[in-house]
Amino acid sequence: MSPRVLIVEDEPDIVDVVSYNLRQAGVDVDCVGDGNSALKHLETHRPDLIILDLMLPGIDGLEFCRLLKQRPEQRDIPIMMLTAKAEEVDRIVGLELGADDYVTKPFSPRELVLRVKAILRRADGLSQAGAGNPSRLSAGPIALDPQSHHASVDGADLTLTATEFKLLQTLMERRGRVQSREELLNVVWGYQYAGYGRTVDTHVRRLREKLGTAHELVETVRGVGYRFRRDGA
Ligand code: CA
Repeated sequence: MSPRVLIVEDEPDIVDVVSYNLRQAGVDVDCVGDGNSALKHLETHRPDLIILDLMLPGIDGLEFCRLLKQRPEQRDIPIMMLTAKAEEVDRIVGLELGADDYVTKPFSPRELVLRVKAILRRADGLSQAGAGNPSRLSAGPIALDPQSHHASVDGADLTLTATEFKLLQTLMERRGRVQSREELLNVVWGYQYAGYGRTVDTHVRRLREKLGTAHELVETVRGVGYRFRRDGA
C-alpha cells in the first residue's frame, strides 16, 4: 500500500509542486488549505505524514502542531514543517512543538521528496521494528523496547515522537561512543545535509527534557556531538 501524506498549505503553487513530486514518487496525497480543514480531515483519515505550512489562514501551523500533539490518537503522526526564511525563530519553536523535520522555502522538490521518504521509512521502521535490532535496551532507569515502541524512565511511560524514540535508541545502542551530529542525522533522520546539525540539537534538548532526572545519561561532547554514558548500564 502506498504511503499517504496530507499537505496543509494555502498557496496553490506550492501545493501543486509538492503534490506532483510526491505522486511521482509513489506517495498518495491529500491537500487542504487551512488548519481547521486539516483537523476535520483527520477525523476520518490517518495520513502517514503531515506536511504543514507555518503561515496559514485561521489557526497557523504552530497552533495546529500544538493541537495535534494534545490528541493521543494523532500526536504520533510525523509532521514536516514548511517555513519561509524569515521565520527562523518560529521554525525552531515549531520543532520544540514536536515537528519531526522542516524544509525552508524556497525548497528543492527533490530534497523535499527525499526527506519525506526518510521520515516515512523511519516511521515504518518503528511500526515493524522486528526488522532492525529488536532487543530491549536498558540503561540505569531508562528502558526501551523497539518492538513495542515503548520507552520508560523508572517504570513511568515516556511519550516520545518517532524521531525522539529513534534518537534515544541509537544513542543507547552506541553507548559509550561519541556520535557526531552528522552520524546522528544519517542514522536517525536518514539523510546527510550540511547545516542541519541544529535539528539534532533541538531534538536532543527535547529528549533530555522528557527524560527528566535521567537526562544526564545523554552527554554533550563539545564541538563533536553526543554520547550516551556507558556507566548508565
Ligand atoms: Ca502559507
